[in-house]
Amino acid sequence: MTQYTVPRGTRDILPEETTLWQFVEQKAREVFALYNFREIRTPVFEHTELFLRGIGENTDIISKEMYTFQDRKGRNLTLRPEGTAAVVRAYLESNRRNQEPLSKLWYQGPMFRYERPQAGRYRQFHQIGCEVLGAGNAYQDTEVIAMAQHFFTALGLKDLEVHINSVGCKICRPVIKERLKSFLGDNLDNLCEDCRKRFETNPLRILDCKNPKCNDFFVGLPDISSVLCADCKSHFHDVQDYLNILQIKFKVNPRLVRGLDYYTKTVFEVISGQLGAQNAVCGGGRYDNLVQELGGPALPAVGFAFGLERVVLIMQNQNITVPDARPYILLAPLGENACGRAAVFAEALRHSGVPAEIDVSAKGLGAKLKSANKLGVAYVYILGDDELLEKCGQLKNMLTGAQEKVAFTDFAARLQKNYQQDRGEK
Ligand code: AMP
Repeated sequence: MTQYTVPRGTRDILPEETTLWQFVEQKAREVFALYNFREIRTPVFEHTELFLRGIGENTDIISKEMYTFQDRKGRNLTLRPEGTAAVVRAYLESNRRNQEPLSKLWYQGPMFRYERPQAGRYRQFHQIGCEVLGAGNAYQDTEVIAMAQHFFTALGLKDLEVHINSVGCKICRPVIKERLKSFLGDNLDNLCEDCRKRFETNPLRILDCKNPKCNDFFVGLPDISSVLCADCKSHFHDVQDYLNILQIKFKVNPRLVRGLDYYTKTVFEVISGQLGAQNAVCGGGRYDNLVQELGGPALPAVGFAFGLERVVLIMQNQNITVPDARPYILLAPLGENACGRAAVFAEALRHSGVPAEIDVSAKGLGAKLKSANKLGVAYVYILGDDELLEKCGQLKNMLTGAQEKVAFTDFAARLQKNYQQDRGEK
């Protein structure tokens, strides 16, 4: 028989892990709400043109990583490789600017990039991200960094570093590129193939090269910050001031540039020492030209996205556990006659908010208690023929081993009370 497997670069997230995912998603919802962000949901695929225009043709995403296809009517569509372009499209299409001068939006969902899979890098991966549209002030850059930091702290993650840089704007970026090119030009033959390509198409990205061979030639590289125009310089200065005011630790990393072309001024990453080569958990920055680039007004914006796979990986590496929602009680009918009765009890408990499981198998009591232990339930309610006659089951406390008779008429109310007490509810 054929054994089917998941496509390369994708993975199943199994129940043992989804608990962590749900915890991360819930924390994001809570923390983002504290900063007045509201959720937006956009389609998983968009017109290809949106990404070509938004992300930039000389980026890796556009040149080699998109999942593009034609639908039955010959439309060119692409599975979204990132969230920002789609959020901006939706923002413009829904005329949100007319309703609010400043939009603070967040999103979550799968993204698709045809990358070489490795630990922490997948072809289908999941991001949670946020975008602030309509704010050019340096405070806003800092606020999203603060929110990212707040969120990671709320998850209990340790040993993360915030790296920031400025990649300039339309005015100073060409000067930065020229400086880089004239510095690296003499050593072009010594650089890796990717860098040589980028030298022509996207020289800033050369800074991102992790190849140790290339790194030897980067020593003495001109410092981007010295080439920034006055506006970008003062913006970068203000962002650092705000970060200091909020006591957020950061490092200025002059080699930090991001893989997407739309960034202007501030870029930042949250880095973990526990992720190997793919050490960026979260990346973002300012993109003051994108809204206009996509047909809207000249509107400054800033945002970030983090990858859930990488966050969950760090949580596992740091042994961060979260409570797993398990049934509170196992109904253990012994014999066919008791099954119907137990089913009614199980359903009544569930309707009153108590998570209940039932074991209607033909197994004996010993085996049922064993599976109750495995499930981690607090109680087992045993119903055999005698109990049916007496209308009174045996309630076993799995923690103490104590067992007592509880009448059918009292059972549901008693369990509900115990459950609420155990959860610390009144
Ligand atoms: P980007 O959209 O490239 O700025 O990436 C933002 C974040 O998404 C990164 O810091 C990662 O956490 C995550 N990420 C990006 N690409 C992948 C991938 N191929 N697999 C898993 N996570 C990814």
